Amino acid sequence: MIIPVRCFSCGKPIAQHWEEYTERLKNNEKPGKIMDDLGLERYCCRQMFLGHVELFDLTAQFRKS
Ligand SMILES: [Zn+2]
Repeated sequence: MIIPVRCFSCGKPIAQHWEEYTERLKNNEKPGKIMDDLGLERYCCRQMFLGHVELFDLTAQFRKS
């Protein structure tokens, strides 16, 4: 769905970086370089970004009527 506000493992707030991360991904930057710039050093935080699938726009199509 939406990126979790904090890293599940260490509790570091990460959600504020999501928009910049996806924007820079669209500009064909390497994920590792982006996360280095954003200060995401621990691999627990990095996996939150690498493993995240944004499903909000897909699930938003299915509303209760
Ligand atoms: Zn973490």
